[in-house]
Amino acid sequence: MTVDAHKETLEFKAEVSQVLDLVIRSLYSNKEIFLRELVSNASDAAEKLRFEALTDEGLYENAGDLRIRIEVDKDAGTLTVTDNGIGMSRAEVVDTIGSIASSGTRRFLENLTGDQAKDSRLIGQFGVGFYSAFIVADRVTLTSRRAGLAPEHGVRWESDGRGAYTLETLERAERGTSVTLHLKEDEKELLEPWRLRTIVGKFSDHIALPVEMLKETYEEPKEGEEAPAPEWEQVNRGTALWMRNKADITEAEYQDFYKHVSHDFEEPLAYVHNRVEGASEYVSLLYVPKRAPWDLWDRDQKHGVKLFVRRVFIMDEADRLMPHYLRFVKGVVDSDDLPLNVSREILQHNKKIDTIRQANTKRVLGLLEALAEGEPEKYQTFWDAFGKVMKEGPAEDHANTERLAGLMRFSSTAAEGTEQTQTLDGYIERMKEGQDKVYYITADSPAAARHSPHLEVFGKKGVEVLLLSDRVDEWLVSHLTEYKGKHLQSVTKGDLDLGALADQEEKEQKEKAAEAHASLLTRLKTTLAERVSEVKVSTRLVDSPACLVVGAYDMSANLARVLKAVGQDAPKTQPTLEVNLDHPLVKRLEAESVGSRFDDLALVLFDQAQLAEGGQLDDPAAFVGRLNKLMLGMMLAGG
Ligand code: ADP
Repeated sequence: MTVDAHKETLEFKAEVSQVLDLVIRSLYSNKEIFLRELVSNASDAAEKLRFEALTDEGLYENAGDLRIRIEVDKDAGTLTVTDNGIGMSRAEVVDTIGSIASSGTRRFLENLTGDQAKDSRLIGQFGVGFYSAFIVADRVTLTSRRAGLAPEHGVRWESDGRGAYTLETLERAERGTSVTLHLKEDEKELLEPWRLRTIVGKFSDHIALPVEMLKETYEEPKEGEEAPAPEWEQVNRGTALWMRNKADITEAEYQDFYKHVSHDFEEPLAYVHNRVEGASEYVSLLYVPKRAPWDLWDRDQKHGVKLFVRRVFIMDEADRLMPHYLRFVKGVVDSDDLPLNVSREILQHNKKIDTIRQANTKRVLGLLEALAEGEPEKYQTFWDAFGKVMKEGPAEDHANTERLAGLMRFSSTAAEGTEQTQTLDGYIERMKEGQDKVYYITADSPAAARHSPHLEVFGKKGVEVLLLSDRVDEWLVSHLTEYKGKHLQSVTKGDLDLGALADQEEKEQKEKAAEAHASLLTRLKTTLAERVSEVKVSTRLVDSPACLVVGAYDMSANLARVLKAVGQDAPKTQPTLEVNLDHPLVKRLEAESVGSRFDDLALVLFDQAQLAEGGQLDDPAAFVGRLNKLMLGMMLAGG
């Protein structure tokens, strides 16, 4: 391989300087975190080396003791963090350091609100680790050489963080990376070793690698004697936090470790730490974040916890260790009995992994149950952030459907507003005497759900209805059909069988009415033959003249709309039109003798019913035309 030694100046991707500006502004009040980020990167680099060396011992280059060193040069005003980890090639530096997570940067910027507090939280989720160096430095130099490459393939990157960086090749004997911060004039206090030690203690104690600094000597060497060679000493604890005894770990240590594994700048919402012994031996430390990461819904984005085998880092985002609907969980699983050479493929079909995943799921669900029980407000924060993902659960994880359902929160007619705060257990407690089902409606907005004509009879009888308007809700109710023996029933589907709730007298009245008004129903059916399968007298309506109902086993109109919105074909089903015989409009219709006016009214009735439940008309212009004709006729008749 020839060495590409030229020095070049490259522009940052356009977004980078913008992000950088923001990082510096919003994280300034918490500037010490730059050291945590650099040490964290150094530790990741060491873990990567250890992993790659499993199959290529030569990468150690005969120097297997992995460590991180922090050094200051008071005269030069610099602080340097050095690791002997995997290092980077020139191309890797361009790819990783030259562009901050370039694929997502634009979207990240679009999410910014201008509100500093909110934006700094976003930055946390975004993980701009390396660039936090610019909070305290006005110039950063990084030199690196990838393990296994010859010394002349070292690389030097330098930037003042203002839009461009330089890149040149240099010789570097030691593998790994050094990051040198040229501290800003007013950040020189960071050159004090005690200050750095305090920061390391605070943020990086749990890094499973020694972090070393030079021993301080206070004695001047005696005349004629040489000063002793400086010695390195370890300044952090250097054992993997998850391997320690729970009782010995402080809350703050758990929280700092979370920030290390998750690249989040905020505290976690909750965590659970377990050591499992017996048939399968492993440790798991799992965290639930406070906020959904910005890429939670990005299909290509990998999620998941870190996998270690006997303290050796194996992979980030081991997605088999958690079900997909718990993909927001962060943390570590360290297995004692997996082979060190596990690959993603092996993880796909491994009984031990399946067992760990099931146990992890139970632990997280248990953690959430405890949170819901003990700290409902915190749980609400969780639900608001992750409820939509949790609703994917029943489809993926049949075995835990009932537990998941118990954790769900819904908005309902029992409370005002759109917040999802009601539990199914609460619903069951509030059920009316004789009520044996949990009723719900799906619609594409909270308002469409709450004001649907389908709810009228429920309102009249004081029966609660769950209002479901998240897209995932259709998916949820197709898998969650029962809870604690109670069937979940859509109010827009099938014959509305209110069971013992229905009033016998009412029922008989309706039947009689249907007979008495048979000719109206037939006339409507004839006019709407292409649009509806049947016309019936409604038991659902109080104030509205008509509504549409689909068969018990047909796709709901809302789901058909959702599918259409995402560009999928939905099977065409013909709904039943239910009419409210007590409504003046329907009465008027019955008296209508002119055929064309009857047809116009019937079609308007049908279109209205569609609009009222949030649907879209196939031919809106025709609807408007008919409506205008009817209005005009009315005005002429009236005036
Ligand atoms: P993150 O750590 O969240 O990925 P960073 O901006 O901190 O984001 O780092 C970007 C990438 O640069 C890392 O993912 C890694 O590939 C590379 N990198 C950073 N520091 C080092 C280092 N000390 N050794 C090797 N690679 C590094």
